[in-house]
Amino acid sequence: MAKTAIITGGSRGIGEAMALKLGELGYNVVINYRSESSKALSDNLAAKIKEQYKVDTLVVRADVSKYEDCEALVKATVDKFGENIDALVNNAGITNNCNWIDITREQYENVINTNLMSFLHMTHLVLPYMVNHSDRHHQCCIVNTSSVGGLTGVINQADYCASKSGIIGLTRALALEFAGRGIRVNAIAPGMIMTDMLRGVNQEELNALAETIPEGFIGDVSDIAGALGYILTASYVTGQVISPNGGFVMQ
Ligand code: NAP
Repeated sequence: MAKTAIITGGSRGIGEAMALKLGELGYNVVINYRSESSKALSDNLAAKIKEQYKVDTLVVRADVSKYEDCEALVKATVDKFGENIDALVNNAGITNNCNWIDITREQYENVINTNLMSFLHMTHLVLPYMVNHSDRHHQCCIVNTSSVGGLTGVINQADYCASKSGIIGLTRALALEFAGRGIRVNAIAPGMIMTDMLRGVNQEELNALAETIPEGFIGDVSDIAGALGYILTASYVTGQVISPNGGFVMQ
């Protein structure tokens, strides 16, 4: 029987590469996005996954920082693919780059609601489905996108680092709570990866950033999709934080 996976923030960047990986691994893929401007991107991605991997897809616009939108996303998934949700990839994320004096309450609440609360909402809504059809021989997976910012501090990113550390705590606690029930929970903590999140940075700054990475270059979305593929197929891996980061942070 086909497996079903939901990915939040699947329209572009790391999420797009991970959505393709899910298709490659034989999952029917539910692609979530938030902005009207990403509708066409998401629809095109869904069509590409369908054609390339012969699986089914569903595109759902939802602002996952809101519980009601997460409910609608999960309901749309169950309506189309049934109650057996096999994988949840929590990936949606945003960042501010602002010092802690000038930042507004609205800005940091937005980061926490998008990056952390959405992961709480989605796991809370999806796990009841997973517990009903998982066991040691049929595993379900939750994969949470954290960041090296969750492993170490980053200047002017206090809200972002708080959200990304929180994701690691959530991952470990849920991994323990659901261990032995066929549900594995892991996190990926990417280092610097070339996506829209970094496209605002000019070439000179990018070169300076690359010099801070032991491997000497900024990573590609395929590095993160590869980590996802590993986690989904590694049946003894749970509660872990995999960090493809070019040696930037060593745990
Ligand atoms: P990106 O290119 O800016 O893509 C962000 C994705 O999140 C988009 O699909 C966006 O949807 C979605 N999104 C944002 N807010 C949302 C919301 N409220 N509801 C639903 N979807 C929402 O960023 P990225 O670099 O691929 O980042 C993906 C994840 O990796 C994030 O969690 C980020 O923190 C993490 N990360 C990235 C890096 C990096 O260097 N790039 C490093 C470490 C961790 P729309 O297209 O509709 O806006």
